[in-house]
Amino acid sequence: MSSEADPPPPKRRRRKPKFGDTRHLFANLRDHLASGTASLPDIAKLVAEGLHADASVIYITRAGEFLELVATFGLNVNAVGRTRLRVGEGIIGMAASSGDVLNLADAQNHPRYVYRAEIGEDAMASMLAVPVKRAGRTLGVISVMSREARVFAPVEVESLATVAMLLAEILAKAGATDVSEEGFSETLPRRYAGHVLSSGIVRGKVLPYGAAQPIAKLLTDDPEAELQRLDAAVETANRNLDGLISASLPGGNAPRDVLEAYRMVAQSSGWLTQVREAINDGLTAETAVDKVSRNLRERMRRIADPYLRERLADIEDMVGQLMVALGGMAPKPERADGYILLVRRLGPADLLDWHARGIAGVAIEEASPSGHAAILARALGLPALQVDRGAVEAANEGDSVLLDAEGATLILRPEPEVIQVYDRALAARSVRAAALAAYRDRPAITKDGTEISLMLNVGLAMELDQLERTGADGIGLYRTEIAALAAGGIPDVAGQAAEYARVLDRAGGKRVQFRTLDLGADKLLPGEAGQGEENPAMGWRSLRVGLDRPAILRRQLRALLLGAQGRPLSIMFPMVATVEEFRAARDLLDAEAARIRPAPEKLEAGTMLEVPALLFQLPGLLAEADFVSVGTNDLMQFLFAADRGTPELADRYDTLSAPVLEMLEKLVTYCQEAGVPLSICGEAAGRPLDALAFAALGVTTLSMSGNAILPVKAVLVEADLTALRPVLRELRRAGAAGGSIREPLAVWAREHNLAI
Ligand code: PEP
Ligand code: MG
Repeated sequence: MSSEADPPPPKRRRRKPKFGDTRHLFANLRDHLASGTASLPDIAKLVAEGLHADASVIYITRAGEFLELVATFGLNVNAVGRTRLRVGEGIIGMAASSGDVLNLADAQNHPRYVYRAEIGEDAMASMLAVPVKRAGRTLGVISVMSREARVFAPVEVESLATVAMLLAEILAKAGATDVSEEGFSETLPRRYAGHVLSSGIVRGKVLPYGAAQPIAKLLTDDPEAELQRLDAAVETANRNLDGLISASLPGGNAPRDVLEAYRMVAQSSGWLTQVREAINDGLTAETAVDKVSRNLRERMRRIADPYLRERLADIEDMVGQLMVALGGMAPKPERADGYILLVRRLGPADLLDWHARGIAGVAIEEASPSGHAAILARALGLPALQVDRGAVEAANEGDSVLLDAEGATLILRPEPEVIQVYDRALAARSVRAAALAAYRDRPAITKDGTEISLMLNVGLAMELDQLERTGADGIGLYRTEIAALAAGGIPDVAGQAAEYARVLDRAGGKRVQFRTLDLGADKLLPGEAGQGEENPAMGWRSLRVGLDRPAILRRQLRALLLGAQGRPLSIMFPMVATVEEFRAARDLLDAEAARIRPAPEKLEAGTMLEVPALLFQLPGLLAEADFVSVGTNDLMQFLFAADRGTPELADRYDTLSAPVLEMLEKLVTYCQEAGVPLSICGEAAGRPLDALAFAALGVTTLSMSGNAILPVKAVLVEADLTALRPVLRELRRAGAAGGSIREPLAVWAREHNLAI
């Protein structure tokens, strides 16, 4: 395969593929890459020669729509830059659109074959086409052809697949560093639709995090050294796993068992052997790990069985850890001031961490408006958007970006005209903000004289200034777990007591409803790995943990009583499912209260209403609870069996639909009859139109994040609930069972000049 020797005339080259040539192919590729002179034509030539093919072509995806011939060996080089195929057109286009390898002995007679005279491939019979993919995107197609009608051998297919992977990395690197004269870099504007998580509009630079980094060095001439690097990385990844396993969790041995099982799968599957083989073929450790993980993902794409998919997912996760240990994934930057973070997933603790690093906004591919990251973003006033997949991969760090978390769009690399339009809109927003500020000191009394109490949902001491900024009547939901998430653990009794005392000090006599720790599901403290439950939101979380591990709950109740220092104290319990659970929690509170002096002037114990079963225990519950607060976020997910964290379900079920409105109406009646104060503190309470409907149903206390107070108040003070009630009744009567009244109610509101 020496390039100096004259190649034999193609006709006579009938050698069978020589297995084991892969190493030579990679060695040649490595030498070219190392010399820094590797070009696409070089790669085309090396591949054709290495696989004993008569010709090769490389196509690159342009503007996501068509494929352009960028290099060939053995065919007409004048076609380069001229031959273009739509994605899906011809064999090449089919490989790109399906993402599959096509291995055809007689390509020209394939029904999808498209003839392009300028390429000069008339004499070619067989064709092997492999898509060049990276992180789910098809960057192009590489193909080899042979005059002889034959199916390419598995080892040849494997070799071309590896070359396609290397090519993907080379292209990604060219794009990421923007050094390519060939135009590989992604510079076009791109738009991503999504859902608003926390409203606001920001413009800045993008910081994509969690995308696969281009691999710095793809091939090696020292497999021994690479094997050693691999071993060291495996050791580091194992040590990290050990740390995770030995972190003591409130769940006893269960998480440990899950992690041990995970480790067994991750280590016993033989995939490390595959990595070692790839290193021996001349790939660097990270290229080899990446190759095996691609194969895994490819297999997962085809597996329907959930158990097997899980196992493969475990291995993929381990592969991810290895990439971090090998330096193939970047650590977080120290500071990210003014950047707009773009990530695939984000937990609440991570969001706090990024917020502390200074981000100005965040776009998340997998998130939902009632998930905890979204709630936290609203609490922090941080514009946040859930965006369609693909954004993370398409962004280059530092690209300009426009996060429109009002119109639910993320625009990467926006055009100057678009920027101008947004800058105008931002100016208009500040005018509206000024107009809203005028409502700050007005009480929320509707036109018919109903007084609505507007309270804040908060979770961090730094949010307390919102009391003054918004003129809220108090704090309807103080999420105590947020501080624990921010601190990376639950503070001791004195630490907690100091925090609660500070909150009451800042509230200056306004009512505060402290909710006890609501940890678990997606609110995991660092080091916790969850319980490995199938449905963590319905699992061992929140008050359930508190009652099973009463020491944690008692310590918190003690801290609350100490922090109150004799002042009135209202405590509510989350995720209560039965009257007995409420009573058990209240008993713990009473036991602590009996020991603490000074006793609070007034001590109230209330319940969140988040579990539908409570709706059927109202007489018993209302005889014992001092107040009830409806958590629509959880209640909706359990009422409709719709995970609050799944973006696809975010708009599917409506709080303004028949079942929810009927439920609230009954609840209002029950609570009024029992004389028990009722509030709504789920996210729905902060949406002006929902708030209006809830008020018309008779709910007189609404608790919401700081950004929502003034827009909700602006609507309520202009609304006449007496006029609205018959309209609401009529809309409910006319609507199909289960149907939403949102649209017609919005029309009514606009007709009455309400700024919904
Ligand atoms: C709710 O479930 O509506 C609620 C307010 O609690 P959280 O969002 O913290 O689960
Ligand atoms: Mg909840």
